[in-house]
Amino acid sequence: MAVPWYPTSWAALAAALALLLVTGCGGDEVPPPTAETSSTAPAPPSGATPGTPTGTVDPDAGGSAEQDIEAAVSVTNAYWQTHWSQLFTGGYNPPRIVGAYDGDTPGTPVCGAERLPDDNAVYCPDGDYIAWDMDLMRWGHARGDAWVYLVIAHEWGHAVQNRLDAGLVDLARELQADCLAGAVLFGAAQDGTLTFEEGDTEELADALTALADRTPWTDVSDHGDASQRVSYFSRGARSGVKSCLPNGVG
Ligand SMILES: [Zn+2]
Repeated sequence: MAVPWYPTSWAALAAALALLLVTGCGGDEVPPPTAETSSTAPAPPSGATPGTPTGTVDPDAGGSAEQDIEAAVSVTNAYWQTHWSQLFTGGYNPPRIVGAYDGDTPGTPVCGAERLPDDNAVYCPDGDYIAWDMDLMRWGHARGDAWVYLVIAHEWGHAVQNRLDAGLVDLARELQADCLAGAVLFGAAQDGTLTFEEGDTEELADALTALADRTPWTDVSDHGDASQRVSYFSRGARSGVKSCLPNGVG
């Protein structure tokens, strides 16, 4: 994925993703990292604010994980900044970006009383911040750069959930976060702030599959199995943010 340097066909992207749903997606050759979690309790670490909402990063395909993460943060924030008032009441305020950590080290940030999980990514409601273990990001980025866009947009989805009335938050919070991620990434493509390159839709399906539970969703803490994650992401991609809300209309 990259910042745009050529126009993207939204219809072609949606069709490609729909095809993935039908054909399924392999990609279980590597053991997946642990699933993302979030916890609740006080004492946020300090962190920086998100980048400017312009979403303009070097359109150099094949950027480093760090460069793609920076682009993902910028593009995701720009989407919500641009569209919030069309979707929800009140103003938009972005979560803080604590950013990269190494869960193997004593310096790992905390969310409340708990250290952030190793090889994972988190939205911490108490500090209203997003952070990610760079081992997870590098591992995923090596599979495809779309990975980091998915992780950032998904965690940002949790930050959005934390800003919504309870009635707008799906009981299946993780799957709703996937839906919101789909809405943001494909919405950004429509906005012209993100360009999908060949293979990106497959990479997104691969990432959703690699990060999925082995069993279907039954509990609020579940992420859902691969087909559920791809299905919710695709719904958001096709039909936008409102389709991710309970009783939402696409
Ligand atoms: Zn999540």
